[in-house]
Amino acid sequence: MKLNGSEIIVTFLGTGAAIPADNKYHSSFALTHPKGTILFDCGEATQFNLRKYRVSTRKEFVIVISHFHSDHFLGLSGLLASFQLLGREEKVIIVGPEGIDELVHSLLNANYVHLDYELEILSIEPGDRLFRPGYSLHAIKAIHEARALSIIFEEDGRPGKISYTKIEELGIPSGPLIGQLQKGKSIEIDDRTIHPDEVMGPKRRGRVVAYSGDTRPNLNFIHNIPKPCDLLIHEGTYPSMMIELAEERSHSTIKEAAEMALESQANMVIVTHISSRFTSQEFNDEVKLIKSMYEHIEVAKPGMQYIIHLSS
Ligand SMILES: [Zn+2]
Ligand SMILES: [Zn+2]
Repeated sequence: MKLNGSEIIVTFLGTGAAIPADNKYHSSFALTHPKGTILFDCGEATQFNLRKYRVSTRKEFVIVISHFHSDHFLGLSGLLASFQLLGREEKVIIVGPEGIDELVHSLLNANYVHLDYELEILSIEPGDRLFRPGYSLHAIKAIHEARALSIIFEEDGRPGKISYTKIEELGIPSGPLIGQLQKGKSIEIDDRTIHPDEVMGPKRRGRVVAYSGDTRPNLNFIHNIPKPCDLLIHEGTYPSMMIELAEERSHSTIKEAAEMALESQANMVIVTHISSRFTSQEFNDEVKLIKSMYEHIEVAKPGMQYIIHLSS
């Protein structure tokens, strides 16, 4: 498939839960958008999979840590140290719950990592919206420990499509005046004022990717996701019959992830943070079960990519 740089590409890097399992790795996925990359969680081995799956870290690079369980952040100091060795000059932004600053500095100190590039560390609380060029991140309190957050990526909307029939009707000459209208500015021609909404269609929506982080099923999170949601990434740590364990450890079963999928009506749902407790038979049965519950659902694997094209 041909890509033109306007796509959002989500690449799964680590898709396992806390106990290490072959070929799953600890939590992490990268969301590459036209202005840069956001890494959501940075478990051990994240830097190896970033390289393996060729995720760009050159433009704006933001790391979001959903909570302070080590399977979500232990890869940080290694990744930051490798950037230093590679001579990085661009700033890295790290976002996380309150206390993220102390966590990052203690990891760097403990590992004797010195950085010459700038680190900007931003803490966010439930309900906060962090605005970056082109998008925002909305933090929702997760039902889990360690100050856990669910995060919703919302791309800024785009101006509507311009109608060249209207442009002609109104006698607007081709050139910079049309550009001004496209930027949302009114223009003057022959003592007439023309407003952008006279020649432009309705504003086009931005793309939405929602990440549950580690959590029990949480309708408050699901109901905060703008519709339509392009991609919901939901944890589904345990097989359905381990519901008591899921409740005890504040996780979701894979079936509960599918229930949240149904509630969200997202265009695509990818279940991640899969425990190593699944036997392969159990895993196959559970995948069948969730696919019978929701049509657009998959289970993540490292290296899996999901591409979201610009909405028309
Ligand atoms: Zn976890
Ligand atoms: Zn956790």
